[in-house]
Amino acid sequence: MNGKRLRAVAGGEAPAAPGAADAMNEAVATATNAAPLVQLRGAGVSYGAVRVLAPLDFDVGRGEVIALVGANGSGKTTLLRVLHGVLEHEGTRLLGVPALRQAMVFQRPFLLYLSVWNNLRIALWLADRKAPAAQRHARAGEALARVGLEALAARPARALSGGEQQRLALARAWATRPELLLLDEPTASLDPDAKAAVEKLLAGFAADGTTIVFSTHDLGQARRLATRIVHLEGGRIDLDAPAAEFFATAAARRRDGLFPDGALP
Ligand code: ADP
Repeated sequence: MNGKRLRAVAGGEAPAAPGAADAMNEAVATATNAAPLVQLRGAGVSYGAVRVLAPLDFDVGRGEVIALVGANGSGKTTLLRVLHGVLEHEGTRLLGVPALRQAMVFQRPFLLYLSVWNNLRIALWLADRKAPAAQRHARAGEALARVGLEALAARPARALSGGEQQRLALARAWATRPELLLLDEPTASLDPDAKAAVEKLLAGFAADGTTIVFSTHDLGQARRLATRIVHLEGGRIDLDAPAAEFFATAAARRRDGLFPDGALP
């Protein structure tokens, strides 16, 4: 059935365990460094008679930072979930790397009623139950330090501010060392300082070589972070271009009345 969520991911956003998405329309392409990390071919999603993602071809290249922009309901979250491999779809999803390590941070991070530290430990345990406890401990510590939450390790995660919760969600994803990080509006409803902190973390992950796909309503954020910007409209890709080219093309099209009002800063 199209649109059915196939697999509950713990915490709503735990990284996909390698190979766990084998129920998906998925195959592993020959692994080379040049191969895209993920290739969608004719990937489409419908809910009953309602089509929300037109069958589309979409490659995520290694090292790219891709911003998905577009109005509410344009299909950004759907595309992210298809890329993550948690949404059944038409067409195929091919991985360029066997057992790609990937993690997704959903718009409202689901945090367990546990301490910050234990939220991290459980996420790491779910991602790799065979990993030695000492390694999980070390990675949880590194992740907390990376997002600057060491002092709050014992605090109940649900008692954190919105910005701190988002940083914890990022720590939880980053702790598993994802090669591909998917984020749905990672700074929605954050104040400017918290937003800047999250952007700085994402820029750092990208600088370390993590491939990132994120959705945003903030074109300024797309300009600051992305190497490539994709504008979705009605479940279709309307414009997909390197960041600089995207803004030049979109501005020209807006002058011609072809780009939606309010879609550019
Ligand atoms: P965006 O992230 O750009 O706001 P979404 O991908 O969340 O867009 O949604 C695309 C369209 O799919 C919307 O019209 C939304 O209402 C619809 N949609 C999303 N999830 C479901 C669902 N489970 N059942 C029916 N329609 C859905």
